[in-house]
Amino acid sequence: MPDPSSLGFSTRAVRGFEADTRPGLRSTVEPIYQSSSFYYEDPEHLDAALGGDPSAYTYSRYGNPTVAAWERTLAALEGAEAAIAFGSGMAAIQAVFILLAVEADRPVLASREVYGATHGLLTGILRAAGVRTELIDFTDLEEVRRIARTLRPGVIYWEAMSNPLLTVVDPVALAEIAREVGALAVVDATFVTPYLQRPLDLGADLVVHSATKYLAGHGDVTGGIVAGRADLMTELRRVARLTGGILAPFEAWLTARGVQTLALRMERHCANAAEVAAALRAHPAVERIYYPGLPDHPSHAIARRYLPAGCLGGLVSFDLRDGAPVRIRQVLRRLEVVRPAATLGDTGSRVLSPPMASHRFLTPEDRAAIGIGEGLLRVSVGIEDAADIIADLEQAIGIE
Ligand SMILES: *Cc1c(COP(=O)(O)O)cnc(C)c1O
Repeated sequence: MPDPSSLGFSTRAVRGFEADTRPGLRSTVEPIYQSSSFYYEDPEHLDAALGGDPSAYTYSRYGNPTVAAWERTLAALEGAEAAIAFGSGMAAIQAVFILLAVEADRPVLASREVYGATHGLLTGILRAAGVRTELIDFTDLEEVRRIARTLRPGVIYWEAMSNPLLTVVDPVALAEIAREVGALAVVDATFVTPYLQRPLDLGADLVVHSATKYLAGHGDVTGGIVAGRADLMTELRRVARLTGGILAPFEAWLTARGVQTLALRMERHCANAAEVAAALRAHPAVERIYYPGLPDHPSHAIARRYLPAGCLGGLVSFDLRDGAPVRIRQVLRRLEVVRPAATLGDTGSRVLSPPMASHRFLTPEDRAAIGIGEGLLRVSVGIEDAADIIADLEQAIGIE
């Protein structure tokens, strides 16, 4: 670089912040490459990079070193050959369906208990784009097999643990059905994280996450990620480059930072959730409790088989005996440790009323048909002291 004093004011302002490279100096964590593009002093190198050399960076929509470091981290945790990060969970899910359903011109067979926005994507946008989508009960394996044989889907899609009733489906049986009919098995594992279940090890082809939840873990990032076989990831990278829903470097850095403590956080989320479930179960204001660790949960046996003993997730849902809207509002107002917020997986405990939030636009009858009562509350149990979470929930639901 020329002597700065020989340059004009505006040139100095621009050039001053160019990257420094000190030979021999290495930072212990990946730096944030907050740069939309990368240049090479040697035009041969630039030409190779633009020509598709996968280890070279040119433009951050194509790839960014900080984002790549996070992608490698998640791939290693999922036992995947590669991963691609997106700007949100929905951007990740959308890219998967563009590749495997829209471009491939194949139907989608999905669990009816999918996340609300995924439900909307499947029944609205994808159908408008000409994709046939069927949403059915994935706990009924015979029905899934029967419909898969006639529908011949390109994708069979489910969530490892569903929202908000925490249904756990049989990943091995579903992946087998997918193989039989020539479909790819895609699992949204947001609620379980690779610490509790690794769908690729159980036969799935792709695993997707809303990294906004447990992976980033601290309530300060919106992100998504997909992991799987290298050949599928190469195709998905093409879709990501063309559709542009990529993750920003700072968000990638925060997520990879959060994931360093994923195991510790999940152990605590799980232990706290088990305590919260036990306490609420005994509470007179609670009508019914949904927690896969309890023997009366419909998915208890499958959860025990496909989730680690003693770590059955950080979520607990329950029906208040009196589910009138005025009572739900009273409970939300009284909470002081557990925050009413439409998310999960944060270090802090969160509570949500599905009829008010995620399932707001369904009629009470449609909610009832999928098992969601008006008094249902979903708690994302945080990593605070369990006694404080329980005391707060008990005082809030207690009848004055
Ligand atoms: C939150 C969530 C999504 C969507 O992720 P965003 O990061 O909000 O776009 C998808 N699936 C599940 C299971 C989720 O909980």
